[in-house]
Amino acid sequence: MKSTVAIPLRVLVATLLVFLSKAQDFDFFYLVQQWPGSYCDTQQSCCYPATGKPAADFGIHGLWPNYNDGSYPSNCDPDSPFNPSEINDLTSKMQTNWPTLACPSGNGLKFWEHEWEKHGTCSESVLDQHGYFQAALTLKKQVNLLQILENAGIQPNGGFYSLSSISTAIREATGYTPGIECNVDENRNSQLYQIYMCVNTSASNFIQCPVLPNSRCSSQRIEFPSF
Ligand code: 5GP
Ligand code: 5GP
Repeated sequence: MKSTVAIPLRVLVATLLVFLSKAQDFDFFYLVQQWPGSYCDTQQSCCYPATGKPAADFGIHGLWPNYNDGSYPSNCDPDSPFNPSEINDLTSKMQTNWPTLACPSGNGLKFWEHEWEKHGTCSESVLDQHGYFQAALTLKKQVNLLQILENAGIQPNGGFYSLSSISTAIREATGYTPGIECNVDENRNSQLYQIYMCVNTSASNFIQCPVLPNSRCSSQRIEFPSF
């Protein structure tokens, strides 16, 4: 009698443990896109990828699992190294939409490796490597940030625009309020560096952000440099 009860109980506990280990370990994603002009016109400067100067468009920085309180997990699985052969079919789209601008010039693999290992491994319960990079590409395609801003008269021409006009343009076009992050150019002007959009845990849809990132913008009017 004892053993017939004990075995199902063990199975139940094991099943529960498997379930819990696969349960979501984060609350939402940030899809973070960077303006290349603002990465490059800083004191640190930049290096174009080996494949040439990227298009004058926002590029993906990363798809980052996050918690609702603003904190985030990182480097979640040392046993899941980046494996470029799993994303062979995505390479050309990645070079266009997720270019690296760090120095020295690279082909993107180091950037993508860093993003997978730091962030992607924290959403492995929902997306494998191919799914992770594919999801970011698909999400970027759904919202053309540059087009949205240009339609609102906000152009990458070195002009200054109010933070609220940038945020409003994106909210009115997409239904979602973005996070805006600034950095500073060589003349210490605060400029539009990254735009954060929030995404549900299956990386299939945009959502309202549970929490917005620190903007680091030191004025209400910020530069949108050319690239
Ligand atoms: P920084 O200190 O330059 O803002 O960020 C350095 C790195 O920390 C980012 O590239 C990213 O990997 C990570 N990071 C910064 N802020 C956040 C955040 O709000 N959420 C997540 N998930 N990662 C972040
Ligand atoms: P995170 O800030 O996501 O933790 O780290 C970004 C890392 O990727 C840094 O080590 C940075 O040098 C490298 N990286 C390579 N290319 C780029 C790029 O185009 N933009 C940014 N922000 N980081 C890049």
